[in-house]
Amino acid sequence: MSENKTQAFDIKKAAESKIANVDFENLAFGNIFTDHMLYCDYKDGEWGTPVICPYAPIEMDPSSRVFHYGQAIFEGMKAYKDEQDDIWLFRPDENFIRFNKSATRLAMPEVPEEVFMEGLKQLINIDKEWVRKGKGNSLYLRPFMIATGHGVIAAPSAQYRFMIILSPAKSYYTGEVKVLIAEHFSRAANGGIGAAKAAGNYSAQFYPTRLANQQGYQQVIWTDDATHTKLEEAGTMNVFFRINDTLYTAPTSERILDGVTRKSIIDLAKREGINVEVRSVLVDELLAAAKDGSLKEMFGAGTAAVVNPIVGFSYQDTYYELPKQDKPLSLEIKDKLTNIQYKLAEDTFGWTVKI
Ligand SMILES: *Cc1c(COP(=O)(O)O)cnc(C)c1O
Repeated sequence: MSENKTQAFDIKKAAESKIANVDFENLAFGNIFTDHMLYCDYKDGEWGTPVICPYAPIEMDPSSRVFHYGQAIFEGMKAYKDEQDDIWLFRPDENFIRFNKSATRLAMPEVPEEVFMEGLKQLINIDKEWVRKGKGNSLYLRPFMIATGHGVIAAPSAQYRFMIILSPAKSYYTGEVKVLIAEHFSRAANGGIGAAKAAGNYSAQFYPTRLANQQGYQQVIWTDDATHTKLEEAGTMNVFFRINDTLYTAPTSERILDGVTRKSIIDLAKREGINVEVRSVLVDELLAAAKDGSLKEMFGAGTAAVVNPIVGFSYQDTYYELPKQDKPLSLEIKDKLTNIQYKLAEDTFGWTVKI
């Protein structure tokens, strides 16, 4: 990075680090943050100087548009430390492009690449002690943008704040995941914002997910809103089905988030000679495959857990348990993908980017 680029950031370091108080062995996901954060404000049609400063609450006017009309988008990424203490990002360009697609869909300004990428790199560098070595350890990166303009007029804000916060993470056992196939609720609809990583997509799914939780299911498998016959996503993850030895996942659409983990798994599985079909799986097909034993595995795919195996699903009050596999394909894929992320296997795809 050049001198000039470094000087374009206003950096105020924390007087002391909180790191000594953190129990890295017992981290709950996403509730401890590092010493610093980044923010960059947009106003009068342009982005200001990005600021890196001590992590702290922000003050906002109660009429800020984000509170009233939900202009809020985010990304979820991770940084990994290898055995040589080098820090790596995984396909950050994909997150950057997706972030700006989300911004456009929510009538928000695009964030310059310099602010997003260079911001991530500089912030992580300042808090690099927070990235722990060893497979399973990572630093979860949360870039986000909110509408900060004042006034409750129902129109897009003229002011925005882009921010990045960082949270140390550890992979942990999530327990057995049973899912409920949605028959009524939807997380997204054609013409809607399902393909954007928008805060509102998450709030829309909390209530149906809570109802599923109360019935003993950890997640909802979302189906298409028009017919509820196509299987689309698992909670906040993309979803894969293994029927016999073929992996199926739905094509991306206006209703489905174009996950980086999903597309990486498709490429990785193909390289491994696994048959992958990108097409919608119908609820009826899933039921038939569960009944005749050809349904071997189901799993969610996303940055936070990488792969989240599903042990069974419920549809119309009937529960279908999946057969236990000696060598689950889901775990083999997870292992291959995380080995690339931690630089334990050769990255033939060129997915990893050094900080
Ligand atoms: C973030 C997200 C995913 C996973 O995307 P990754 O890029 O793999 O982390 C899948 N579905 C939804 C709805 C999401 O918000």
